Amino acid sequence: MADKKFPSLWIETGDDGKICVVMSGAYGPETHLPFVTPAEDLVAAAEMDYTAYRREIQRLYEEHPLFEPKLDISVSELEDLTAEALLLPSMLQEIDPLGFFELGNLLDKALRMRDDGSASFLLRAGQRLLQTLEVPIYTQIRLRNIMEMTFDGMERATQQERFAKLRGVYPDIAGFCNPARLDSYENVILLLPVDNVYQLRLVELMMYFRQEKQRIARCDYCWNYFIPKTKARALYCDRIFDGQSCKKRGANLKRRKGPEQDDALKLFKQLRDRMYARMLRYQDAPENQRDRLIPMTPAQYDEWEANARQARRDYIAGKIKAEEFLRRIDTTHELASYDAVKQELPPEESFWQKRVAADLDFDPEQKYPASFMVLDLRKPMDSPQWQVLTREELIQKDQKGHQNLLDQYKKNQEPVLD
Ligand SMILES: [Zn+2]
Repeated sequence: MADKKFPSLWIETGDDGKICVVMSGAYGPETHLPFVTPAEDLVAAAEMDYTAYRREIQRLYEEHPLFEPKLDISVSELEDLTAEALLLPSMLQEIDPLGFFELGNLLDKALRMRDDGSASFLLRAGQRLLQTLEVPIYTQIRLRNIMEMTFDGMERATQQERFAKLRGVYPDIAGFCNPARLDSYENVILLLPVDNVYQLRLVELMMYFRQEKQRIARCDYCWNYFIPKTKARALYCDRIFDGQSCKKRGANLKRRKGPEQDDALKLFKQLRDRMYARMLRYQDAPENQRDRLIPMTPAQYDEWEANARQARRDYIAGKIKAEEFLRRIDTTHELASYDAVKQELPPEESFWQKRVAADLDFDPEQKYPASFMVLDLRKPMDSPQWQVLTREELIQKDQKGHQNLLDQYKKNQEPVLD
């Protein structure tokens, strides 16, 4: 049995592959969240809406007097920031009880940071406080990245193939999530302690790979993840946007013109791949070499993606034309023009899929680094476990990636046929 510490977080396994997350604070009774399958919990976690919470943190960064450029900072400014910051976690209590619980522990530690006597202490203490508040957001960004790499375009794949795809992009994470780690625990109830919510998501992912009853797919319309109810091919989820379900909208689209035939959507996918590759490159690069790269932090990618998803929905729903769609997603001005969309584009297979296709040798015996277990989420996003691609690979990708979108776009430009 697990050593129970206060405060702590663990996963309890139940019947039918379901799990229950248990939170145990320093005071009060334990809280048991409802039983769910790992797949259900992962889909729900990827979808939590932190928009309002995030905006409040951003407001403090931008508007609080503590962060104004000046020579002197008073203690009262830090006290005031602290008072404001401590109000924010309650915004998550309903939508994300786990994030709320984790913040309680982390803020407790952050507030006990000792004054080291340096002049910049107050400023750093304030920054540290806000960075702590961002932990649930970064946890979700990481989870979304992992899910994107594992589930996007993989609806027809086997669990083994999904795992292999994850391993091709994030070998360390795949090492941690390797379902073979659960081999010796057949038919027993497990109590798995975890250090933080991010690690909890990885354990859920490991349990997800262990089973084959449920698969996680990505809806072609809204782009959220969902669990198809049958084994049959599933393109769309049951969510409802603007009064119509994705399934219904998908069927309508098919009658007119399937999204897979739509060139603007292909360009969208390529642009997305490029942004994603850019983010990985930026994270992977040593601090002193980053100035040679186009900056793309996970938060910037997340913002780009959220905006692009909305534009994509508007486009598919017929609210905007292809030109407007491309203009809205091309925030970094990569496309030569927005008027010609009917063109032959490179094959469906994306740059990532090619990479992963070359690495399907699933090996359950793979060793994984123990250092992953002590992941500290309060550190900046350039922590070592994110260095997942070698430099050579990145340079290679860089060259290919750059030729792909723009050059193909120009090369294949054809007159619009109406
Ligand atoms: Zn959907």
